Amino acid sequence: MFCWLSRLYRGLSRPTRRTTQLIWGSFSRSLVLSSQRRIPELSSFVARTNTCGELRSSHLGQEVTLCGWIQYRRQNIFLVLRDFHGLVQVIIPQDESAASVKKILCEAPMESVVQVSGTVISRPPGQENPKMPTGEIEIKVKTAKLLNSCKKLPFEIKDFVKKTEALRLRYRYLDLRGVQMQYNLRLRSQMVMKMREYLCNLHGFVDIETPTLFKRTPGGAKEFVIPSREPGKFYSLPQSPQQFKQLLMVGGLDRYFQVARCYRDEGSRPDRQPEFTQIDIEMSFVEQTGIQSLTEGLLQYSWPSDRDPVVVPFPSMTFAEALASYGTDKPDTRFGMKIVDISDMFRNTEVGFLQDALSKPQGTIKAICIPEGEKYLKRKDIESIRKFAADHFNQEVLPIFLKTNNNWNSPVAKFIMEKQGLGLIRLLETQEEDVVLLTAGEHKKACSLLGKLRLECADLLEARGVALRDPALFSFLWVVDFPLFFPKEENPEELETAHHPFTAPHPSDIHHLYTEPQKVRSQHYDLVLNGSEIGGGSIRIHDAELQHYILATVLKEDVKLLSHLLQALDYGAPPHGGIAIDYHRALSRVPCAVQ
Ligand code: ASP
Repeated sequence: MFCWLSRLYRGLSRPTRRTTQLIWGSFSRSLVLSSQRRIPELSSFVARTNTCGELRSSHLGQEVTLCGWIQYRRQNIFLVLRDFHGLVQVIIPQDESAASVKKILCEAPMESVVQVSGTVISRPPGQENPKMPTGEIEIKVKTAKLLNSCKKLPFEIKDFVKKTEALRLRYRYLDLRGVQMQYNLRLRSQMVMKMREYLCNLHGFVDIETPTLFKRTPGGAKEFVIPSREPGKFYSLPQSPQQFKQLLMVGGLDRYFQVARCYRDEGSRPDRQPEFTQIDIEMSFVEQTGIQSLTEGLLQYSWPSDRDPVVVPFPSMTFAEALASYGTDKPDTRFGMKIVDISDMFRNTEVGFLQDALSKPQGTIKAICIPEGEKYLKRKDIESIRKFAADHFNQEVLPIFLKTNNNWNSPVAKFIMEKQGLGLIRLLETQEEDVVLLTAGEHKKACSLLGKLRLECADLLEARGVALRDPALFSFLWVVDFPLFFPKEENPEELETAHHPFTAPHPSDIHHLYTEPQKVRSQHYDLVLNGSEIGGGSIRIHDAELQHYILATVLKEDVKLLSHLLQALDYGAPPHGGIAIDYHRALSRVPCAVQ
């Protein structure tokens, strides 16, 4: 049955009589080895012999041809030529016989693109430039060609020259000539290459393209619609290849991946782009731990080698814990200032709004401690924190300052009994000069507010010179055990999915599904890096009846829109699950300073 498969692989590797399985194994191994050995040939097929950045003393005496942009010219004698690989100094010939070469190189405006041919010579003693990788040599030019002249530019092509974002975007093609941008794009390309290598060659995944003209998917973000030729009919751009990858599992392609373009019409929310790229993965016969280990291995394998290595396994935290301690489902665990529940300590409080909060169901009192807040937070910061809480959460926030001898300074100081004060100090590990921010109210609301203030205060402390978050640290975290459904914001009586409607319920909560669906946890996992969600996935529902029930009865969606998927699940769909990693976001968290 698999003879076509063995033919395919035999065609690609050395002919062999072994079984398909062995061929596959040797094929993947030979690819790995050769790709590890290979040093890219940067000047094949083009009109140069070398790149500007690669020449060293070992090239002395060689005749070379270089192509690049004119970066500097000094005294009509020295010219610095640049390409993506680096800079090299070129000596403009001064003798009469080379007058035409001199004319080209002296008259071409900066950033003109030229081709020069000449000999690699060593710089005169004392004139070496240790700051330039090519600083020991220079090029004695014999011939030169102006390939294209450059008009006056809107900004200089030098990374240190400040320019506005708008200008950079308008002239993106010029911005790309800068060292940092070149580095970023090449780093991204290398990471994707390594991801492909890891998935295809080491783990037998198949890279499959899926359509981008599709139909509406219920739930999730708004979709872009594309008019068709037929009046009144539209295509929808997929938010992700979710349905396709599940259909591929039904089709027996049991290890799929794709560097997939996704489209979500999310307005101008920060950190969101209307189109972005995911490493989209799906596997059959897998459980949550399998997907997590695969993802950890993938990131570890493809992580830039000049950064601190990725340490696996990543720690894991439940959604409930993340909300209670960090007020968010994407905690930045690089620093403390965790939210602490202090309700028990204030059961007998005389402070009106605290009493009020505790008398309500779900009512709590929560606090965070800002280390040395008194030193770093100004009065106006505290005022704007309180205003933010009132404007956005309709919540009151009380600042409490811890003075020497465990004395408090706050509008409620006189109501804090000694026992409560000592309890606060113990629970929040408060020290002199710290500031406690306290709020009271419903658990989720109080936590979300303090989660926001925690980040806000971290930014303020850092802006004032406190080293809180190590920029070189990669703090990966799995957030697991999400609820399967959330109450809709506009109408809390109705439910919406926390991830997407194909996510399977947690096996230990399935009994609640038909009676109290809001209590069901899911098999959904998110990957968080330094406080940003960079990936998410789930184990899927592979039972058509269960999928139908969730769509129709719980989510009240029009099941006709997904009849194709429901039907497919009925034709022997294997258990399956997957993940999507937003590598743009992941990479934008990697400090990409050129080293
Ligand atoms: N399709 C999902 C997303 O784009 C990821 C997944 O569940 O695999 O968020």
